[in-house]
Amino acid sequence: MLYRDLGKTGEKVSILGFGGMRFPTINNQPNRIDEKEASKMLKYGIDNGINIIDTAYSYHTLDFNEPGKSEPFLGDFLSTGYREKVLISTKLPSWIVEKKEDMDIFLDQQLDRLKTESIDIYLIHSLKEDYWKNLTNLNIFEFMDNALSDGKIKHIGFSFHDELDLLLEILDSYEWEVVLTQMNYLDEGYQSGINGVQYLSSINMGNMIMEPLRGGKLVDNIPPEVEKIWNSAPIKRSPVEWAFKYLWDMPGISTVFSGMSTLEQVKENVSIANNSYPNTLTIEEKNVIKEVSRAYRDKKDVPCTQCNYCMPCPQKVDIPTCFKEYNIAKMLNNPEASSMQYFSLIDEENYASSCTKCGECVHMCPQMINIPNELEKVKKLFGR
Ligand code: SF4
Ligand code: SF4
Repeated sequence: MLYRDLGKTGEKVSILGFGGMRFPTINNQPNRIDEKEASKMLKYGIDNGINIIDTAYSYHTLDFNEPGKSEPFLGDFLSTGYREKVLISTKLPSWIVEKKEDMDIFLDQQLDRLKTESIDIYLIHSLKEDYWKNLTNLNIFEFMDNALSDGKIKHIGFSFHDELDLLLEILDSYEWEVVLTQMNYLDEGYQSGINGVQYLSSINMGNMIMEPLRGGKLVDNIPPEVEKIWNSAPIKRSPVEWAFKYLWDMPGISTVFSGMSTLEQVKENVSIANNSYPNTLTIEEKNVIKEVSRAYRDKKDVPCTQCNYCMPCPQKVDIPTCFKEYNIAKMLNNPEASSMQYFSLIDEENYASSCTKCGECVHMCPQMINIPNELEKVKKLFGR
């Protein structure tokens, strides 16, 4: 398996990383990891070259405000002789930090839960505007300086689910070393997207990638029109292989975290990683991927281009984001995942349900979308 530099950290990471949010569970309960099976998967992955695992305070929980089971499970597993073989990446639960001391409390708990003296890569979880504002008001910079100088963490970064301008603003605020962003061939224009990846690469920032398969939706229940394109490609590959090859073709990406749930998935992904190299996709192959992406996009229900001309709405409805998440739900036929994004990215006062149908936005839309009518559909799909 190839290893790449993690930006300027001095670390070398395997191009395939283990995502610790989708371990197999007992009776489909997220807070009950099937530890025997998950341990087998981790052993196989690490014995076959994976050297980085990503987790978070809240992975494998029923309530994202509570500590999950992923960290303590990994702490137990790694203490069986695997700790020295991997880098641990975990995250500060930024949305439940209320006081300055909370940050130290969470970090100390995480060191305990992971049974380690130092966390290799510590990420501020899921930064978006309001969390970032709160954390800067609480002087997160001092917390990070101290955690680094005490040796409790070795490298500092953040994970990100917002737009490019906020990414740039946060990058300018501190000596970050690593950023975790969402990327796959369907998300080039979503959140910080491909522009974010290219910018991070241009400044030699360690760029770790999440959601390479969009929570499995790029490989499960593939629409017939997409299947047809894959089948007509000059080289026969599984959709999983296409999705990973798309990412590993980009030399600026350090590692791609995959939240694997079975041993077969680990074996398949390791085997794909063993045959993936940067700058090797041909123009023809890239065109196949573009065609697939277009076929998914054609399934969009509302022709919103995210131009923002309809904003601001007097009732504060976040019209473009409402349509964006609604369209993704339609494209991937996965309202559950989009609903999670909808409720985490949009504040309650900005939901589609705040629309009073005043009609002020309608004449602003160059796509002539009947915005209040279409927002009704969003409301119906996601509720309040
Ligand atoms: S119709 Fe709805 S979305 Fe449009 S401006 Fe009025 S309240 Fe806002
Ligand atoms: S003006 Fe129309 S196309 Fe532009 S963001 Fe608003 S709804 Fe979408």
